Amino acid sequence: MIVEIISVGTEILMGNIINTNAQYLAKRLAHLGFDCHFQTVVGDNPARIKSALDVAYSRADAVIMTGGLGPTKDDLTKEMLMEYFGKRPVVDEQVLNFLEERARARGFEKLSDGMKKQAIVPADSLILYNHHGTAPGCVMERDEKICILLPGPPKEMQPMFEECCELYLNGKRDKIFVSIIIKCVSKFDAPISIVGESPVADRLNELLDGVNPTVATYAKEDGCIVRVTAAAKNHDEALKILEPIVAACKERIGEKYIQYVKEDVD
Ligand code: ATP
Repeated sequence: MIVEIISVGTEILMGNIINTNAQYLAKRLAHLGFDCHFQTVVGDNPARIKSALDVAYSRADAVIMTGGLGPTKDDLTKEMLMEYFGKRPVVDEQVLNFLEERARARGFEKLSDGMKKQAIVPADSLILYNHHGTAPGCVMERDEKICILLPGPPKEMQPMFEECCELYLNGKRDKIFVSIIIKCVSKFDAPISIVGESPVADRLNELLDGVNPTVATYAKEDGCIVRVTAAAKNHDEALKILEPIVAACKERIGEKYIQYVKEDVD
């Protein structure tokens, strides 16, 4: 399944905040075994969010969106998506009760309209309750297209993704990715030209053209890393695919230029 990430927020577009949500989600998706070919950032503007969705669904099965779920007027993502997916807005009593109790505990007699807006969820959808904030997320499905909508604040988004979405996505995946990292490092007795990315890439040569596993080089300040990644049904099968190519990479790089070889488990 191909998944795209759309980060909603004018703050991101203006450079006021760093899009750590996309980085986090991209890493989790790769770990879970989903292909993610594109990420988009779009401001809090319904027409532009819709156009970002149209483009995303022209090339992906699922979209994960973060941001724009809160109580303020510029938080429009959920309303826009309900319209896009043809979902009727309904009040979620569990969220409403929680918000009312929270308001009472804070000395307010009734909920503001903005806060009430957070209890409105799409009908016939999976509601993701927010245990670290107020706005619930949701999963909408229609015509084999999936949209997972998550709150913007990372401390709310990350646990919601791990506690609810991973379970949901696990039911949709047909493969996992496993990566082995080979860290090449500058050594006092090693000419710098051997451990930099370009000479390492030269030595790996046609191994870099592989499809499964893929082999890629990345420059680092103290040398470079080679990442060998296999897609397979399970972890053991992935390790079997990786073994001969990792051995070939090690041989071509040369033991004395390798600091360590380990599985990427982040
Ligand atoms: P809220 O209920 O706080 O309004 P929300 O779901 O509407 O949540 P936004 O209003 O879009 O989310 O963003 C709220 C805050 O969350 C931002 O000010 C920022 O601190 C953080 N945030 C939003 N999107 C991202 C992102 N992509 N990466 C990192 N942080 C983000």
